Amino acid sequence: MTAERIDGKAFAARLTARVKAASDRLQAEHGVKPGLAVVIVGEDPASQIYVRNKGEQTQAAGMRSDTHRLADDTTQDQLLALIAQLNADPGIHGILVQLPLPDHIDSAAVLGAIDPDKDVDGFHVVNAGRLAVGLPGLVPCTPLGCSLMLKDALGDLSGLNAVVIGRSNIVGKPMAQLLLAESCTVTIAHSRTRDLPALARTADILVAAVGRPEFVRGDWIKPGATVIDVGINRVPSLDPAKAAEGKTRVVGDVAYAEAAEVAGRITPVPGGVGPMTIACLLMNTWTAACRSAGVEPVLGE
Ligand code: NDP
Repeated sequence: MTAERIDGKAFAARLTARVKAASDRLQAEHGVKPGLAVVIVGEDPASQIYVRNKGEQTQAAGMRSDTHRLADDTTQDQLLALIAQLNADPGIHGILVQLPLPDHIDSAAVLGAIDPDKDVDGFHVVNAGRLAVGLPGLVPCTPLGCSLMLKDALGDLSGLNAVVIGRSNIVGKPMAQLLLAESCTVTIAHSRTRDLPALARTADILVAAVGRPEFVRGDWIKPGATVIDVGINRVPSLDPAKAAEGKTRVVGDVAYAEAAEVAGRITPVPGGVGPMTIACLLMNTWTAACRSAGVEPVLGE
């Protein structure tokens, strides 16, 4: 069997176009232009690239994009003051603080200070609670993207066995909640799980969010299963000369070639889950803007 490749890049482009159309409608009909503020502290090069991409894509989706670049030695109080200012700004509907923050800043205190209704990353405990009890809230972007791709690929997920490898607050746990909400039978695996390969082989849907390159092997996969690879891992280039120069490539948490021989559908890395994460950030910003205007967030086709 050779698995069908789930094209996250194309799906994300379609979703972004729908979000843009919905944002344009919100502005035309209700005078509200969705606004996203991204806050970055320090000079971490990878974070700078992520933030620049987010800004460009937010603007391309017809939304207001504000980027606040703060120096490495910004104090926690200064950062909290900015969050308070953004919480109070009616033109800003989404606030994202780029992680990681410098060590002298308590990330939990900063994320907890964001107005939950503007928490487009969905990391606030209020949004984690809303997700757990089935109330409308803002859902973390990466698992939200995975859930949308799964529903697009499989339709009704109810009754399927889902195994999520990883229990982080930003991916594994919300992913499991979303699958449970779709009436899957969900198992969450982690570093203490016994006989993970055997457990993984029970999965109709296998989500890998581990952070270990090519950790999930082909013989862990149930024939025909749908595999969602969340991992983003930098490993040395396959070309020894380039590897010696420090060149890297990106691989997922799943050994793609092996897995694609057994699975029914699989997301590649790159080009799978990654592009969906930014598309869902834009969708969350639009959702927050709709709610601020008292409009039901219904995305058109
Ligand atoms: P974390 O490090 O927070 O969590 C990793 C999880 O994997 C933990 O629950 C850990 O278990 C589990 N784990 C580690 N080793 C094993 C093992 N040997 N067997 C079973 N489980 C194990 O990572 P994140 O959830 O933040 O991210 C996971 C991956 O997803 C990373 O590669 C990250 O780069 C990527 N990512 C991709 C995004 C995207 O946009 N595509 C966005 C966010 C993350 P335990 O809890 O027991 O330690």
